[in-house]
Amino acid sequence: MTEKETKHIFVTGGVISGLGKGIACASIGYLLKSWGFKVTIQKFDPYINIDPGTMSPCQHGEVFVLDDGAETDLDLGHYERFIDVDMSADNNTTTGQVYNEVIGRERRGDYLGATVQIIPHVTDEIKRRIVKINRDRLFDIVITEVGGTVGDIEGLPFLEAIRQFRLEKGHENCINIHLTLVPYIETSGEIKTKPTQHSVMRLREIGIQPDILLCRTKYNLSEDIRKKIALFCNVSPNAVIEAIDAGTIYEIPLIYHKQKLDHLIMKLLRLPLKKSNYEQLEKFVDRIKNPSNEVDICICGKYTQLHDAYKSIIESFIHAGADNDTHVNIKWVESEEFSNCDDPEELLDDVEGLLIPGGFGDRGIEGKILAIRTAREKKIPFFGICLGLQCAVIEFARNVCGLKDANSTEFDDSTPYPVIDLMEEQKCILEKGGTMRLGAYSGEISDGTKAHKIYGRNKLSERHRHRYEVNNLYLEKLVDSGIVVGAVHKKLCLVEMVELSDHPWFVACQFHPELKSRIGKAHPLFSDFVRAALEYKHRDS
Ligand code: GLN
Repeated sequence: MTEKETKHIFVTGGVISGLGKGIACASIGYLLKSWGFKVTIQKFDPYINIDPGTMSPCQHGEVFVLDDGAETDLDLGHYERFIDVDMSADNNTTTGQVYNEVIGRERRGDYLGATVQIIPHVTDEIKRRIVKINRDRLFDIVITEVGGTVGDIEGLPFLEAIRQFRLEKGHENCINIHLTLVPYIETSGEIKTKPTQHSVMRLREIGIQPDILLCRTKYNLSEDIRKKIALFCNVSPNAVIEAIDAGTIYEIPLIYHKQKLDHLIMKLLRLPLKKSNYEQLEKFVDRIKNPSNEVDICICGKYTQLHDAYKSIIESFIHAGADNDTHVNIKWVESEEFSNCDDPEELLDDVEGLLIPGGFGDRGIEGKILAIRTAREKKIPFFGICLGLQCAVIEFARNVCGLKDANSTEFDDSTPYPVIDLMEEQKCILEKGGTMRLGAYSGEISDGTKAHKIYGRNKLSERHRHRYEVNNLYLEKLVDSGIVVGAVHKKLCLVEMVELSDHPWFVACQFHPELKSRIGKAHPLFSDFVRAALEYKHRDS
């Protein structure tokens, strides 16, 4: 390896979306990290939004927030969880950002005299972003995922930029991995390679010859099928990798490793073979696949029809489950189901914990409040995240402090008791994109609290994404009635965590701990919540 040359892996997708390109990238990242290389992963999203922050979670899934406050695609969550690297705004580029930059330059006169075009101006900006991520030379390998599928009109400038980049940098420094679908047709009992052939054909028309094919399949691919794909797609048979449906996504790096995908990548990129280590992942996968216990947790939210809206929470429960030798079953309940049912207790009858996740807008709020009241009174473990904390405070204010109709001004701006209110600096903000309290903030954890016991220290640093906060005007009243403040942001004078001391596990946080849980490093709040749910399950035994 020429000492300082960064190696690039571009990952494209074909046939259909939703094949798990983000997880494939994260898994490849894991493989290469296991061989001792420093790896980062970036995502190019061809949509025109500047970031996904303004998109509906029902359509686009969760918005993954980074330490620096960037609101990014949920695939960044997979990257961070798998390769355990803190990412930044530079790890997610959208068409919107690219055009914004190019048009800004045009207005400043930087292209004076030139007609500004997709080639070379837009493609140059994309190429600048391919390398920008490694400007400090921290990484040996940069993996770049291109969102969407080959053939999408909006993806073309990205693929053209990659074509040019590969030519400039040389094949030993840039490879392309194409993720494709090899479907099984039930009626004829056949595995079909044609969709893969067509999507590779499309890629080759654009000028990119893939080096490796990751073939998503339900069944094993025979030697003949592999040879056929190799022949028609112009790759060697050992570069046709079977990406078979896995029981858990965390097994995917091991499935790739068994087929020597890591060796192949290192050979193509002329990387030296070092020593690999997959032991930690093997143990982790074993704990996920063979748990001794199980618990049922209810997640009551308003985007439950698309589980991707709560991706990081689901993954955090897998990590926390592995930590507790327990499988966590999630029972999804639409918040409105709580408000419409006669007996909310019934909905929590068969679970050992309730989690209220983040969310926006007033739909379903009363249902969440009712669910929290039930968990508080019945002493069912309760975990509130962001909006979940705000609802817990509203519930407590109404039903314990006696502040009738207490609310958040987000849902009722004429409430007599605005226990949750906009932060002062938010009051004059009109623009929606990128204007919340975003990113990592540190907090001081109070001695003697459950929070302190869980974190085992006095400080926390967690990621935020919200506009509203606990209103300090009501804090004394809440505390006098029994709310314990678990953590605060001292300088901004903001409540970060609350809990109840007369309840086995009632903890809520204003931040999003699910954004910091990683392979083998379950977030302590999730881990302790699962432990408490297990304890609740066995309360009578
Ligand atoms: N809607 C609430 C706010 O803006 C909570 C946001 C969230 O749960 N992420 O403060």
